[in-house]
Amino acid sequence: SDSHFPVPIAPSQVDYSIHYPYYYHPDTTIDDNEVTSNDSTLIPCKTRSKKIQFADIGCGFGGLLISLSTLFPETLMIGMEIRDKVTEYVKERILALREANPGQYQNASVVRTNSMKYIPNYFEKGQLSKMFFLFPDPHFKEKNHRRRVISPHLLDEYAYTLEVGGIIYTITDVEELGEWMKDCLEDHPLFEAISEEEFATDPVVKLLSSATEEGQKVARNGGQTFTAVYRRISPIETE
Ligand code: SAM
Repeated sequence: SDSHFPVPIAPSQVDYSIHYPYYYHPDTTIDDNEVTSNDSTLIPCKTRSKKIQFADIGCGFGGLLISLSTLFPETLMIGMEIRDKVTEYVKERILALREANPGQYQNASVVRTNSMKYIPNYFEKGQLSKMFFLFPDPHFKEKNHRRRVISPHLLDEYAYTLEVGGIIYTITDVEELGEWMKDCLEDHPLFEAISEEEFATDPVVKLLSSATEEGQKVARNGGQTFTAVYRRISPIETE
């Protein structure tokens, strides 16, 4: 249950030093201004204001994060995963990569949490530039649709968390869920489908199926996938 993992009471309470020690010195008694650049293990203090910008919701085994980490080496990103053992696996995976590749993978981390309840505890308004919902659990039965990670109500939360211009990426191999996610996004006043041209040129779109463990499984089995990629827009002004 939720009582087994701590939840920050507000985004300002998220401890970045445990996730990104390369960017955030764990010793909070050190004032930002005292962090000197002649200590080679520390980063100049200005990067300490870096915020998480990408969130992979239900990240599973972390394949997408690992790919994004090197594609966007300056961007802090986090996976949110509800299963304890899976979260631990991703943690270990990232630590091993950091160890084997000095200076790399410092921008990726994972947290065990229930993303359907606690997104606003982790991110401020307009903080994120990308959110990922890759191969989420389908919850087929009508009465379980409210448990889906994309729903009209949760899209309000995601719109709040995304900056204007930010992008939400979704993919599934379940046609009915693909339709559902697309319909929810299409009907929401703060989201708009990205253009075909942008869809074709965004390097991240290709990773949705190739970089995730679930996507690779679907590809191995020759399965079809259904993708919806939408941009957070400003509210349309009415006169
Ligand atoms: N995105 C990964 C991929 O494409 O390989 C994993 C897909 S897997 C089918 C769905 C994941 O979402 C599972 O790891 C599950 O534990 C996680 N999950 C389900 N509900 C969640 C929630 N409320 N909060 C966080 N993670 C959740």
